Parts: sequence; C-alpha cells; structure tokens
Amino acid sequence: MPEAADEEPIIDLGSDSHFMGQALREAGKAYARGEVPVGAVVVREGRIIGRAFNQVEELKDATAHAEMLSLTQAQSVIGDWRLTDADLYVTKEPCPMCAGAIVHCRIRRVIFGCGDPKGGAAGGFTNLLQVATLNHRSEITVGIMEEESKALLRSFFQEARSVAAQRKAQNSGAGPDTE
Ligand code: ZN
Repeated sequence: MPEAADEEPIIDLGSDSHFMGQALREAGKAYARGEVPVGAVVVREGRIIGRAFNQVEELKDATAHAEMLSLTQAQSVIGDWRLTDADLYVTKEPCPMCAGAIVHCRIRRVIFGCGDPKGGAAGGFTNLLQVATLNHRSEITVGIMEEESKALLRSFFQEARSVAAQRKAQNSGAGPDTE
C-alpha cells in the first residue's frame, strides 16, 4: 500500500461498491448484446483477475454464465484452480451451477447485487455456498448495488416481452400487413 494521502479518497477503490460497479459494467455489455444482463468480476488482493458477462446466446452454451466465465479466467490468470483468497462480485444471485463451481474453486466471499428467490443458490431458494457437509463454504454479502442490478434485468425483460408482444400482434393481424 502506498503512503496514505492527506485527503480522503473520493472513490474507495477497494470497496464492495467499486467492484460491484465493475460487475455492473460487464452486465451492461451483456444487455447491449441482447444477453440476460448479468456481470461478474473476480478480485484478489484488490485486483480484478477475471471479468465476464453472460454469453449464453453468443456462445450457444447454457453454461456460459458470467460467474463461470470469470472463474475460468481467474484460474488461468493465477495458474491455479484454487481461488481461496479471491472474492466474486456478481450482479445477480448465482444459480445452482455457478454456486457449485464457486465452491469447487473455493472462492472466499461471494458478493451479489439482487437476489433470486426462484432460482438463486446463495440463500434464495437454496444455499449451496454454505453446505455444512462440503469441504468449503463461502461468505456471502448481499444487496450491494441491488437496485441498479435489478433495474437492468427488469428493463431487459420488459423489452423482451414487448418485442414478443409486437411479433405476436403482427402474426395474428388482419392479413400480411408488412408495411
Ligand atoms: Zn449461473
């Protein structure tokens, strides 16, 4: 660490909201590409060693969640599958697949934005990150930049619904009105 400056820093570069902001930037990239907007970063010793956004459609791979892609990147950066001193920031609560991967990689702490009561595996409908019988458990921090993460998902699905409704209206309209 460098010598502390006299004045307080305006942005705390080590804070949870700083890194969640980075995860949100990744989610924004997903949004722009028509992917469900979820983003993730892996942080170790104050440095981002993995960053990714959901790419299921682009890669035509149902496992290409932001968490999975960022974990793979982080493991290759440090040359070890053990991410014991790394933390994962993700805009939405991880699903069971990603929670499983997080435990396998031994991530120290998982920080997420909005919860997913229906599909979340970090305390939403279940909690795979803290199973007593497994050999690793991750700490969980909830609700960092929750509103921003939720708003992005909400507007994505609203848009998707209105596109689907338009298409339906076009298909069921009076004849081939293509104009
Ligand atoms: Zn997932």
